[in-house]
Amino acid sequence: MGFGLVEAFNRGMEGDDGYEVAGIRVKCSHCGGEAFDERTAQLNTAGATLFGLDWANKSAYVLACKACGHLEWFL
Ligand SMILES: [Zn+2]
Repeated sequence: MGFGLVEAFNRGMEGDDGYEVAGIRVKCSHCGGEAFDERTAQLNTAGATLFGLDWANKSAYVLACKACGHLEWFL
């Protein structure tokens, strides 16, 4: 896995499931929840191009809200 972005993707306070991205606490845009499960998604080149994301790295971080299941994507 590539961890180039992970330095900006720090765990929040110990003991909870909160995350910070670029120094900002991640909140679910649907329900406002702050507990997430972290996933890593690999973006293949074809898919990245298809979605106009060929500027992006080939991996994305996905946070799945534990309360409602909404997915927050970070590239
Ligand atoms: Zn939510």
